[in-house]
Amino acid sequence: MKKNNLIRLTAMLLALLSALSLCACTKSNLTVSSDDPASGAQSPSGLPTPGDPTPSAPSSGNGNVTPSGDPISPLPSDDPVEPTPSEDPVEPTPSKDPTPTPTPSDDPVDPPEPEKTVEVPANTVRHVFTHCLINDPAKGCATASGPLDVDCLTVSEFEKLLQSLYDNDFVLININDMYALHKNGTARLLPTVTVPEGKKPLVISIDDVTYDPKKRGSGMIDRLVIENDTIMGCYDNADGSTTLTDGEVFPILEKFLKTHPDFSYNGAKFTLALTGFAGILGYRTDEQYAEQGIDVAKEREKAMVVVNWLKENGYNFACHSYSHSNYTTCSLERVQRDVMMWNRNVKPLIGDTKVFVYPYGAWTEYGTAKHDLLREEGYVMFCGTSQLNTIWDGKQPKKGGIASGTGTIYLERFTMTGFTVRTYGSTATYLNYYFNYFKDQGYSDDEAQAKAQKHYDVNYPTARKNMLEYCVPEQIYDHENRYHKILPDEE
Ligand SMILES: [Zn+2]
Repeated sequence: MKKNNLIRLTAMLLALLSALSLCACTKSNLTVSSDDPASGAQSPSGLPTPGDPTPSAPSSGNGNVTPSGDPISPLPSDDPVEPTPSEDPVEPTPSKDPTPTPTPSDDPVDPPEPEKTVEVPANTVRHVFTHCLINDPAKGCATASGPLDVDCLTVSEFEKLLQSLYDNDFVLININDMYALHKNGTARLLPTVTVPEGKKPLVISIDDVTYDPKKRGSGMIDRLVIENDTIMGCYDNADGSTTLTDGEVFPILEKFLKTHPDFSYNGAKFTLALTGFAGILGYRTDEQYAEQGIDVAKEREKAMVVVNWLKENGYNFACHSYSHSNYTTCSLERVQRDVMMWNRNVKPLIGDTKVFVYPYGAWTEYGTAKHDLLREEGYVMFCGTSQLNTIWDGKQPKKGGIASGTGTIYLERFTMTGFTVRTYGSTATYLNYYFNYFKDQGYSDDEAQAKAQKHYDVNYPTARKNMLEYCVPEQIYDHENRYHKILPDEE
């Protein structure tokens, strides 16, 4: 296949699949940012409708998008244009310990066997993301006012997901172990990452660890706390008391690692993708809250307790923008303000990060002032959102294609939410969902059916195949606690 075709195809596929799902972190044409970050633009609660699932992306609906070649890993390592910077001033590969030749001494005692590790190509790293959990399904799944059912997994789903990832030999690694930084601020993917023998490298990120006050009462916890040196979810009750719960991704992981310590390599845990507009981790750390009479300094102190615990325990942080705006469509001024507000309200709490997670997966195009600004801020690892597993070394989407030699990494993340687990768990559910979607758009039954079928033909096989790397969605779906159901497939 000619390179141009490959690039076009890849860009198409990326755009198509990115626009496909509708979770809060997923690109959606319907998601518009308002000027006021606290005004609800970031809680696209009114979003049980997806962005146009056949987006206006270049000729996306032609159905030719499933080539025989693997469309998911369009980053061929044999790419002839790959400009591996030869002037690399920094040694990118941490030199392996040259195992000192053991002196065959008389010592009969075997030292404790060190974990046997191997090097695997860094472009095989998988990245899965989800949101904070539906802790109390009776609230979260029963209300139509919140997006939790679409965006979030339930506690039992997340527990089953972890088990499935573990059973599929994944091991958590630190996203920051995937790349090397050069002195000039550029980065490149390392050739390999280290994992225990027999394991596959995995990054998990948790988006929007905000606990926005607007979500109170919808079944998500109110904040994270540290109790007895471990992390817990916490509800603030109306009478001033608090209720602790371990039904959130962080305590669930901690518990899982107690019985399955080999699910983490080198202590690596999750990446938290934070915004700033409503504070972080359930604390109203943002300066705007001072106007509401909240003691922001005190909130920051409390948040720091959790931040410090997380850092000491293997978690790391990513920037998910300050305002959770759509960075493809928002103005340069919005990004400028976001950068300023992030640096004032979030960075002092969590420190530096090189990882930028696009809200809605809506990327900034290479060569634009918005993208340049993010680069200047030091971000080198840009993460998208889709049903793909793409990793691009030195590449970034640009107008009409893909830029090369960017000195950055572009890493897609597989979306694991109520919506994706539901729709990729059943052909019938998928077709039914999109039939209704197109009906809502005003199409006739026949038209809606044809459109849903086409949408299915183009998207479902790849997304389903990718999902199966991690879990069998219909096996983890929590039928008891969802008001949507997975329909039994007829065939
Ligand atoms: Zn998000």
